[in-house]
Amino acid sequence: MANRNEKASKKKKKREERQRAARAAPRMGAPDDRSPPSPAEIDRMLAPIAGDVATALETDAAAAARLAHEKSDRALAEAWRLAGTRPGCDRGCSYCCRGLRVDTTVPEVAAIASYLREQLSPDDLARVAERVSANAEKAHGTTVMGYPAQMPCALLDESGKCIVYLVRPLPCRTDSSLDADACAAGYEEQLTNGTEVDVPKLPQVMFAGTKCSAELRNAIRDRNLKTPVVELQEAVHIALSDAKAVDRWFAGEDAFAQARVNTRADEKPSVSFGDKRRLPVT
Ligand code: SF4
Repeated sequence: MANRNEKASKKKKKREERQRAARAAPRMGAPDDRSPPSPAEIDRMLAPIAGDVATALETDAAAAARLAHEKSDRALAEAWRLAGTRPGCDRGCSYCCRGLRVDTTVPEVAAIASYLREQLSPDDLARVAERVSANAEKAHGTTVMGYPAQMPCALLDESGKCIVYLVRPLPCRTDSSLDADACAAGYEEQLTNGTEVDVPKLPQVMFAGTKCSAELRNAIRDRNLKTPVVELQEAVHIALSDAKAVDRWFAGEDAFAQARVNTRADEKPSVSFGDKRRLPVT
């Protein structure tokens, strides 16, 4: 028990230190200032990125996703470095993995499915596939605002960790908070009053992530591949249920049509890049 208390207090101390540093650090812009970074800042963010996602997509869907992830990780790290601060997110903190629709791409889903097949035992894979299938059914056809509010991502384990962290989709890589306490407070607010809350984010990070995401989506469109944007739970369900689905998609078939995201003109295209989080309601 003493050990657990000690651990919790260390964790709290670390979080408080990070928050103090975040508050004290000079930033390129205020977190809620949505003005884009300057051209020089964009150049600096994207300068360390090498490789061409479109070229990678000529031969291998999952490889294109891995390259887009690598590019985004470097760009995001650069954006945080330039801002002189760090994300408030911590291991096991999973407020943003609940009740949020993740709009992703088939190459990223291909990377997730092959990672799960490589890493999990047949029994564990079957358990995850069952969770994914249940979520896919609830998510089917929902809009961003109509997405099941309490639903944790099926790729989240019991301790709040992402089981596909290394191959998580671009929105998950990008959607970092500046203040974990604001996420926790927002979660409570949503539980109590059902109202949405703002979570402070770094616009430069959101911008860099959006650019990388756009590059992958454009490469898919340029190759005339079908359904460039898919809902995560449904698409992973398709990829796990049919080992040939990605190959069929890559050959031009609309194999992920069922997972196409439902967008409406009056909704934000993806809540993951929006300025508010929908937190679970119980
Ligand atoms: S893929 Fe991982 S990071 Fe993304 S919502 Fe699911 S559990 Fe969270």
